[in-house]
Amino acid sequence: MGEFAQFYCCYFLQSVEHRQSFYIGSSPNPPRRLRQHNGDLVKGGAYRTKRSGTRPWEMILIVYGFPNKIIALQFEHAWQHGYKTRFIKGEERIINKKNSGSAGRNIHYKLALIRQLLNHPFFKAMNLGVQFFNSNVTTLFEQNKFGISLDPCYENWNKINTSENALSLSRYDLKRLTVDDLSEISEQNKDLVSHFYNSSIKLDELRMKRYTERAMDGVLTCGLCFIMYNYTSEDESLKPLIAFCTNEDCDFLSEVSCLCRKFIAEEVDERDKNLVLIPRGGHCPKCNTLLEWTTVIKYSSMLKEISRK
Ligand SMILES: [Zn+2]
Ligand SMILES: [Zn+2]
Repeated sequence: MGEFAQFYCCYFLQSVEHRQSFYIGSSPNPPRRLRQHNGDLVKGGAYRTKRSGTRPWEMILIVYGFPNKIIALQFEHAWQHGYKTRFIKGEERIINKKNSGSAGRNIHYKLALIRQLLNHPFFKAMNLGVQFFNSNVTTLFEQNKFGISLDPCYENWNKINTSENALSLSRYDLKRLTVDDLSEISEQNKDLVSHFYNSSIKLDELRMKRYTERAMDGVLTCGLCFIMYNYTSEDESLKPLIAFCTNEDCDFLSEVSCLCRKFIAEEVDERDKNLVLIPRGGHCPKCNTLLEWTTVIKYSSMLKEISRK
């Protein structure tokens, strides 16, 4: 199952010791990437001899939910090049040239760029989420020094979150971090990132297992138009993309195309119907669970992929 579990994120690293050093990257596996950035430094011995560099890095947040690697790379590039990215209009750019001195390396600026990029219609359609692993950074994001209001859809969909037990560095003397402090911060951060990543992957696997079993049952009926299809058939025309409900106690399923039409019709009040080709999401017709369209699509494509094998 693991091979179908897709996860792409952009991550933001801050040096534990040199708080003005940052790094932006993208990866399908953030805990592994964090280990690579830190090398084996956190495993005892070698760590003590290399105190001078930017290691260890702390992964302070990730932006996740990218449907594929290419789009994660586009976000990464735009975030690294906020002074020239086409995803932020010229007049809205906080900084307009590359050599802007300390302003361009400032954490407030980097966090403001996240807000600006998330507001762009291209990224907004993807229901991206932001997960913070350090509560001090959450506070800075909320302070919103550059006054960029985030599209309300992120709050409505509960997409901006901070990990439970997120690190807080207030109990450390950041000017005088001991080797033990560095090691402790680094270990805790690694656990937070792993926990978030593993939970997401696990959830995908459990859902896919349930959906696959369901689809392989034989004859299925669309819950909206009542047409029948069959994923065990050789006939591809009997295997349309199927949408499932994410609530595990609900057995609703329908064709993706039927659910798409229904959700778009329900969104009319919010957005101009003629402009909406892809809905943001909607409520399950059977149990009323709120379903994100990107999630529906992700699982239905994975299932289609499995059925081809
Ligand atoms: Zn249908
Ligand atoms: Zn449901």
